[in-house]
Amino acid sequence: MQERVATCRCGRVQAVCVGEPVRVSVCHCLDCQRRTGSAFAAQARWPEAQVTLSGVTKTWVRVADSGRKATYRFCADCGSTVTYEVESWPGLTAVPIGAFADPTFPPPKFSVYEHRKHPWTMVLGDDVGHSSLH
Ligand SMILES: [Zn+2]
Ligand SMILES: [Zn+2]
Repeated sequence: MQERVATCRCGRVQAVCVGEPVRVSVCHCLDCQRRTGSAFAAQARWPEAQVTLSGVTKTWVRVADSGRKATYRFCADCGSTVTYEVESWPGLTAVPIGAFADPTFPPPKFSVYEHRKHPWTMVLGDDVGHSSLH
């Protein structure tokens, strides 16, 4: 089975992801903008049993406007978020695509929170789903 390894910038935290991701998306929401420091975020999701996180992480829980919680796990040394889980996607672990540092990673199929999209950002192709779901 395909195995991919995501790491933080300093390399002390790793997430080993087994199998193909069940969802790959970009998100334009304001929280993702702040988390990544970028204009939008790109992430992939696997069933939680297929992701193994190692290294010293810190955890931060954010309560969204909807009341749903999101739990972010990031390197205690360099601060990169390596995995996170959101209550709206139970049983799935999300990993920022950039943590794989792999330009051949499967492309996103969904683009969400587009009402927060910066007007200059790229438009994904017609085969990409657009929705307001996170
Ligand atoms: Zn690190
Ligand atoms: Zn978002």
